Amino acid sequence: MDNSNVKHWDNDHFLHPWEGMATLGKNDRTFIEGASGIHVMNEKGERLIDGPGGMWCTQIGYGREEMAEAMAEQARNLAYFSPFNNSNSTTARFAREIAKRAPGDLNNVFFTTGGSTAVDTAIRFVHFRNNLLGRPEKKKIISRQKAYHGSTFLAASVSGKERDRHWLDKADDLAHFLPDVNPLYRAPGQSEESFLKEKVSDLENAIVALGPENVAAFIAEPVLASGGVIVPPKGYHESCLNICKKYDVLYISDEVVTAFGRLGHWFASETVFGIQPDIVTCAKGMTSGYAPMGAAIISDRLIADVAGKDATFSNGYTYSGHPVSAAAGLKSMEIIEREKLLEHVRRVTPIFQDQLQQLGQIDIVTDVRGMGLMGCVQCSVDGDPQSDLGCDYEIGSQIDIECQKRGLLVRPVINMCVLSPPLIISESEIEQMFDVLRKGLEATSTWLSGIRGQ
Ligand code: PMP
Repeated sequence: MDNSNVKHWDNDHFLHPWEGMATLGKNDRTFIEGASGIHVMNEKGERLIDGPGGMWCTQIGYGREEMAEAMAEQARNLAYFSPFNNSNSTTARFAREIAKRAPGDLNNVFFTTGGSTAVDTAIRFVHFRNNLLGRPEKKKIISRQKAYHGSTFLAASVSGKERDRHWLDKADDLAHFLPDVNPLYRAPGQSEESFLKEKVSDLENAIVALGPENVAAFIAEPVLASGGVIVPPKGYHESCLNICKKYDVLYISDEVVTAFGRLGHWFASETVFGIQPDIVTCAKGMTSGYAPMGAAIISDRLIADVAGKDATFSNGYTYSGHPVSAAAGLKSMEIIEREKLLEHVRRVTPIFQDQLQQLGQIDIVTDVRGMGLMGCVQCSVDGDPQSDLGCDYEIGSQIDIECQKRGLLVRPVINMCVLSPPLIISESEIEQMFDVLRKGLEATSTWLSGIRGQ
């Protein structure tokens, strides 16, 4: 096949997510044309370590023959049928397997097409339930600055990344945002304990100020992922859940990134953070990225409140519970279990986090942070983590350029780069990945010195 024109076609016809208008039609994106294990292959045939794990999702790695086979078999047998009035055994089986692994009494799986529609579904269900319980005013959602919950209108409206919100219309009446929970930005001399108290008070004060009768739910990623891998202070989620219970506010845990093994457990809420949320949203690692799928998993308690009522939850998608995605999800789950990948993640996490910490010695690095197989390197030109200079220079993109030259893809986010490699990454591959990242960061530092010298 002649591919000589694909770069032009890409620029002329493919509008990408987060498309920058200033560079529209002038991009030179790296094409990823193949992949195997933890590596992707660019259009020049060069192998790169997949630092971002696709986008937090390629848990079992690429090129698994048995995944292709399971999906092909499902496609041959039943590629699709409407989930509205009918069902199929593959999707029903997958729902059961998810319910078995989900926290506490979260036993009701509403399948969606991805993470954004999972968050949409969670909010719509919360509103639906409150309407049925005769309190239609209880609708506000409390979220947090720097949170990312998706790109559909509802999910974007509860996302708190300023840069993304700037150009978007949003449902302003719907959401209230709490200040940044990143311990990096605590006041000079403030202890972790007092920072935790402050952050939990932020939630309680907001509920009281808005009026508990108006607040439906609090939505939180266990670890804020694309906001820059922000790990809240220890005990944060537990205390927030207690506040939510006190005011009859539901807790939605957005585990689109953290579920299915990223933190070494099927779900992080219960096993890592000790909470049983009312609703958990998930997607991404659910199929290891082999097919699109997401879910809002709703507790028995919430379902019991609406069961038997004369009302229809009028929310659903043509591709809810798509059988080929469900087949991919079941097979991915089987592989994670058979290869003991959750245990593997728990075993290699200290190595990953230790290697990450060592990058803190590089001059442009102002913070390194992470949890499980999630990591973030934050940079700044002047060594000040509060400084805006990082944004001016788009340091993250330069780190990505320097790393790609040396065999690693990273995900740039303004002045940061985030990492979440496939869960199958071995100890020596982790060391190799961080070795390249170190060299990429040092080269970026030299590049920055050049710019500043001009
Ligand atoms: N929630 C979180 C925490 C996410 O990280 C994302 C995607 N990065 C989403 C929701 C939205 O998922 P999707 O892109 O599959 O719609």
